[in-house]
This record gives sequence, structure tokens and C-alpha cells, in this order.
Amino acid sequence: MEIKISFLGAAKNVTGSKYLLEANDKKYIIDCGMYQEHDLKDRNWQPSLVPPTEIDGIFLTHAHLDHCGLLPCLVKEGYRGKIYATAATCELSKIVLADCAKINEEDSKFKQKRHEKEGRQGPHPDVPLYTLPDAKEVFSLFSSVPLNQPLGLGSGIYAEFREVGHILGATSIKFTIRDDTETRTVFFSGDVGRCNMPIIRDPSPIEEADYIVCESTYGNRLHGNSADIPAELARIINETTEAGGNLIIPSFAIERTQDLIYYLATLLKEDRIPHLRIFVDSPMAVKVTDIFRRFPNLFDAETTKLARSIRLPGLTLVRTTADSKSINRIKGTAIIIAGAGMCTGGRIKHHLAANITRKNCTIMFVGFQAKETLGRIILEGAKNVRILGEEYPVKARIERISGFSAHADQQELLDWLKTVKGTPRRVFVTHGEPDAAEVMSSVIQEKLGWQTYVPEYKETVTLD
Ligand SMILES: [Zn+2]
Repeated sequence: MEIKISFLGAAKNVTGSKYLLEANDKKYIIDCGMYQEHDLKDRNWQPSLVPPTEIDGIFLTHAHLDHCGLLPCLVKEGYRGKIYATAATCELSKIVLADCAKINEEDSKFKQKRHEKEGRQGPHPDVPLYTLPDAKEVFSLFSSVPLNQPLGLGSGIYAEFREVGHILGATSIKFTIRDDTETRTVFFSGDVGRCNMPIIRDPSPIEEADYIVCESTYGNRLHGNSADIPAELARIINETTEAGGNLIIPSFAIERTQDLIYYLATLLKEDRIPHLRIFVDSPMAVKVTDIFRRFPNLFDAETTKLARSIRLPGLTLVRTTADSKSINRIKGTAIIIAGAGMCTGGRIKHHLAANITRKNCTIMFVGFQAKETLGRIILEGAKNVRILGEEYPVKARIERISGFSAHADQQELLDWLKTVKGTPRRVFVTHGEPDAAEVMSSVIQEKLGWQTYVPEYKETVTLD
């Protein structure tokens, strides 16, 4: 039996996840992610490395843009086959792709204007990478699959989706490949989540795997004693209520916003915070929250219990711009959760402009803030910031809660890998910066005694 894996993305870097699995004369693509690192964005514009008409099926591990974001390009190039994913991943991917298309359209218009004014051309044509109609072409190809059931693909190949605790609907995918004499299993980790996170269940055990393709985002790091999130949150809410200001939380639309709602509901139920008005003011987060509500079967036991015993009466999902503007006329303390998570755009900018100069307000960060973003600038203690073209002195309190990561750290990855039965033939370490991948690879060798390999971009490996 000959099985080959080609590493077509997320090899010695984090984004652009894409693998080609070839076996029994079939070609399958696992994930089709967009590159988000600035110096790799060029790859988003390159034609597919595998001719779309030769692909027998696409498999999605989850709905993050760096795993599904280039699907519209592949479909534009002629892919017409199925895209297999869990039902929640299919629904969330539609929101993510539509949102990305909209941003592409706006960005290209803006760039076109700027380039015209400056009389120069950018590295790519001033057209969107894909448009909303392009994104919608993808939707009819989604084919939702059940969890934990081998899906027969013909030619002796089966795919099984297994929960991995990263975001709603996220899975690993196990391929079982048979011929007359042998059986092999190839296990793609997807992004591995952590145990005991809110809402979703913990990662499932791997069980059988001859080969594992494993992510290593935090392969060289430990999250440490993740701060007591509920206690920190309660302290910040109570102090801000006492001061009489608003609590502004820039937040990512998928999972982070819903995790916050979960913590707020828990604190309210335990009577650790007062009843406050809570607004989720991000059109994308509101849509995503609706999707979460449609999949209570994916919730863990605690969330199911909580969902039964309490509602958040003060919670408003803000849908229109007019409603968004009216929030700032409210007197007294409100909690405002808005996107974008790094304050790079969206309604959060308006809320920052209205609250950042007020001493009694708090701006609370709950996610990673990349270099040079407004979020990072505020977090690093700037005295003045520019928001929507105007200068504002920063008077509000700035707080940060760490410990919200949706990715397993080095130890958590090792613990998860250990759930395999026996010794895998090889582990391919991907989806990490070079240092993270190399460190993870050596730690697996040292602590588990397994063979590992860190593949290069575009490298093809034949499995023995
Ligand atoms: Zn992810």
C-alpha cells in the first residue's frame, strides 16, 4: 500500500492549513486555510497546488479562517466536489467566509483608491481575493457529517470526525485506509483545544493512529497556572460598577464571545456580580451566537446544566447600527462586548471612542493582540490613541485577563498524544512557528520515544 501526505500549508508556520492525502488512487484535501502572516499572504493569490478537478473530496477540521478561508478560491478554480465537515463547522464556515469576502471587497476598494491617488500599483491586482457571490458558491458543496462514525469514501477509505475541544464543531479527522492485505490509520489533529474550557466538550482520545499530523501552535510554551478567569472577571466587573462606568470588552466572534457569556451567566448565578445590561455588539458574533444556540448537543455537561437553569435576562444581541449607537446613551454601568477582537475595525472602535476618555470606564482585553494593532497600542499603555481619525487621551482603566486560549500548550498536546493506543509509526509536527514545531518534535521524541518529523512547505512524504 502506498500512502502519501503533502504539506501544502501550515508547515513551519501557523496559518494556511492544507494537506493532501493520497491513497488507493484517491486524492483528498484536509483543510484549505488562508494565510494570515503578513509575509506569507502572497500564497493566498497563487493557484491551487493540486488541480481542483483531481481532488476527490475536501475535509474541514473547523471553521477558523486559517483552516477554511481559501475554499472560495478553490471553487473559483473549478472544484465541484463535496466539502465534508460537522454540521456546526459548515454553519460557522459560512459566516466566516461571508465575513472575509466582505472585508476583501472593502479592502480592495480602499486599496484601489489609494493606489490611484499615489499613482502606483500594488503587488496584486486591486480586486478582492474573492467576493460574497464567490463565497456563496462554496455553501452548496458543504456536506455535514456525524461525529464518531466512519464515513465510507469508497476504495477502502474511511474518514471519522472526532471532537477536539478547540471551538464549536471543531474536530480531528481520522482516515482509515485498507487494501487486500493491510490497514493504516492517518490522524489529522486539527487545532487541539484544552480540557475544562467552557461550553464545548474536552478533546476525545485518539485511540488508533499509525501516523499523526499534529499541530504545535504552543509547542514551545506552557500556559502556566491559567489565571482564575471567573474571579478576575468578577473583580473587574465589581470595581467598574462601583466606579459607575462601562466595561468595554473587545472580543473575537467565535468561541471567545460565547465563553464570556458563559462566565457572566455563571457569575450571575453564583451572585458574584450585580445584574447588569450586557450587549454583544458585533454582527458576526451575534450570528455565531445564534449558531451556538442551535447546537446544544455539542455542549459539555456543565453548560447544558447552566443553559437549563439560567438565562441571562440582561443580555442583548445588538443587530442594527441604530441599536448600537443607542447603547452609549444609557446611564450607569453596562458590559459591552464588541468586535473586532484586536480593535482593528468594527463597532468596538465607536465604543472605545465613547468610553476611553472616561476615568470610571474599563477596557478589558481577553485575547491576543498582534503587533501594531489598536488593541496592542492601548494595552501597552499609550497616553493618547487615534480612533476613527481622531485623537483621544486614554483615561479609562486598562485590564487584561489571560487564560482564554483555545489551543493546548506543550504539556496538554503531550497528554492528548498519549491517548493513542500503542506507538504511532511517526508524528508529523505542523501548524507552528519553526521554533515551536522543532521544540514540540524533540519533546515528543524525548518524553514519548516516538519518531517525529517537521515537514517543509510543499514537501511530500511517502508513509512506510
Ligand atoms: Zn483554529
